[in-house]
Amino acid sequence: MNVDLYHLADLKEFLRVKELQAKRSLGQNFLFHKRECERVIRAADIKKGDKILEIGPGLGHLTQLMEEAGAEVTACEIDKRLTSLWPEIHPDFKGRLIASDFLAFRPEEYENCSKVVANLPYYIVKEIIMKLLTCGVQWESMTFTLQKEEVSRLTRKRGEERYGALNALMLILGEPVCAGIVKSENFYPRPNVDSAILNISPLRYPKYSLWLKTAEIVKLSFAKRRKLMKSNLAELNIPTDAFSILGIKESARAEELEPKMFLDLARLLSK
Ligand code: SAM
Repeated sequence: MNVDLYHLADLKEFLRVKELQAKRSLGQNFLFHKRECERVIRAADIKKGDKILEIGPGLGHLTQLMEEAGAEVTACEIDKRLTSLWPEIHPDFKGRLIASDFLAFRPEEYENCSKVVANLPYYIVKEIIMKLLTCGVQWESMTFTLQKEEVSRLTRKRGEERYGALNALMLILGEPVCAGIVKSENFYPRPNVDSAILNISPLRYPKYSLWLKTAEIVKLSFAKRRKLMKSNLAELNIPTDAFSILGIKESARAEELEPKMFLDLARLLSK
């Protein structure tokens, strides 16, 4: 195919010829600028032989560069209008392209992957990250392009306003950091706000059964923000001395706890 999809005029012409309009409802803003795509790939530290899960590959701008870097990509894209074009735009693609909603995509299909890379659709960022964290795969790293404000939310620390379950879960496994801003003009259609790259690397998982128990405790603890953690955890029938053994105040709220304490609590309850 003789168009360069990293070139805005070619991309627009390609979409026009195919009578394709980006769907806002699916968060379709294609990161077309090659230099910016390369920044995302660098932030993800992609190496030859890496097995990557990509969510929402769109027209394959990131996918192509990851393949060129020697990675094996499993890509999950919900929009069949886009996946049906891949044989034409990526005739030499060696990875796997699956036309599916990622939220319905079975973990067995990507359990051999170790890194996640995605320019995520903004409307389901939290659901996707929560699924990735609890799907059974122990990821080495995650690298996402997200709206800048979303990256600020996901990098909140304990003590910051609206720090929540997803923040605590990520902080137990690693340290989410902002790896740079991607200006809105690098996307088509151009969104109203700039984006940023979020990177978590490395992720250090405890034994997986312990991790799943920890995730359950964290989600319940933050379920009703105004309630004491102890009340939120009532359904777990926690032994009365568990909090004092760990030095947690009876009046503690989830957001006050050092993230690793949830892991200690899960360990205690698993004994
Ligand atoms: N990766 C491409 C890029 O960087 O140009 C496209 C990114 S675009 C922000 C988000 C992509 O996620 C779109 O291609 C959209 O169709 C896809 N998407 C939206 N919801 C999805 C879902 N539930 N599962 C899989 N893909 C989804």
